[in-house]
Amino acid sequence: MIDACSQEFKPLQSIDDALDKIKAAIKPVDGTEKVMLNEALGRILAEPVLSPINIPHDRNAAMDGYAFASRDIIDGQAFTLTLAGVSWAGRPFAGRLQPGQCVRIFTGAVVPEQADSVIMQEHVQADGQAVHFPANTQVRQNVRKIGEDVKQGACLIAEPKQLTAVDLGLLASAGVEQVIVKRRLKIAYFSTGDELTALGKPLEPGKIYDSNRAMLGGLLADQSYSLTDLGVIADNRQLLEDSFIKASKDYDVIITTGGASVGEADYVKETLQSCGEVNFWKIAIKPGKPLAFGRIGQCCFFGLPGNPVAVAVTFQQVVAPALRQLSGVACLTALRLTAICTSALKKSAGRKEYQRGILSQDKNGEFFVASAGQQGSHILSSMSRSNCYIVLPEESKGVQAGDKVTVEPFSLLL
Ligand code: AMP
Ligand code: MG
Repeated sequence: MIDACSQEFKPLQSIDDALDKIKAAIKPVDGTEKVMLNEALGRILAEPVLSPINIPHDRNAAMDGYAFASRDIIDGQAFTLTLAGVSWAGRPFAGRLQPGQCVRIFTGAVVPEQADSVIMQEHVQADGQAVHFPANTQVRQNVRKIGEDVKQGACLIAEPKQLTAVDLGLLASAGVEQVIVKRRLKIAYFSTGDELTALGKPLEPGKIYDSNRAMLGGLLADQSYSLTDLGVIADNRQLLEDSFIKASKDYDVIITTGGASVGEADYVKETLQSCGEVNFWKIAIKPGKPLAFGRIGQCCFFGLPGNPVAVAVTFQQVVAPALRQLSGVACLTALRLTAICTSALKKSAGRKEYQRGILSQDKNGEFFVASAGQQGSHILSSMSRSNCYIVLPEESKGVQAGDKVTVEPFSLLL
């Protein structure tokens, strides 16, 4: 597509080219710290964790029942064993199982050394000390082996990985109390614009409330980031430059919104050019064309557009993968599905579009998507109602109802 806003009439770069440039320009930040497990959720593991123990640590029962030795069975016949005691979870049977004996056992309890099988309690008949086993009792079942989950010394979790709740459970199961994680990425963000009014203040004529900063704070909610909200900066070249330079010394990343386009009061790109370097400006996506990426010293700079929907799209499509790369974790590909579009969608060829849609799945498993409503880049209400992007390629000239489209869900729950 030709960029009609630029005097140079250069074709706009694709989002894939922009992401490649970011990949080439960004190196993960250094620095690690040791944290307690209850502080580790969402942090990025910096060193592999080897299991100090076997998991399970003991041979234990997979269900409530009776532990016995298969040597006590005569080919497929019913048999009776004498109850020798009980093995509770946490309180093993203290004796030695003699031939002809069995032990009452509960899930997770240690299986006595002489036993190799556990039968489900529903399958036997207990009559005082006599326990009657049916014909064709299965042997060597329902015993969890030592180290069958993880062997002592094996890698529990490899680095780098952003730790999930399940990871914390796995680490705890091995008795790991502390982990080495990457230091948090230091991110500062602010809004630019003379029209922006703080929440709680009345709106003067021509002013608007600052929705971008509230949204960015939410989009950036991640335990691996340390966030600083630097407020609003007026449309003033000198103020912007002073703020950029100061923030670039204290943070790994600066994210701004507004002032990145070609209006008379749009100073972000020119300020970045004068105090740092612009890697690229503008990409062939809609919404979100005026996006500036560069650096000031060691600090990465993302100048996002002003319109709120464009902020969400550029954050999710461009900034989020870049932040993962800065954190040193793999850039994961967003889940994309094919759905039947139930609305006609307007589009001109040129830019890749991220229209907002409402995705649903019928009882046969087929996906359907409808437009979430008005698609202007200032219309946050339709984005708030939506649960996916409908991703339309650069060359698309629109969609008829019934056409197949690619969708990118915002979450795995519909
Ligand atoms: P700009 O790129 O500064 O020309 O802004 C484009 C549009 O986004 C204008 O309508 C701005 O008023 C609006 N805008 C800029 N910043 C914000 C913000 N923080 N919250 C809501 N709207 C904004
Ligand atoms: Mg502005």
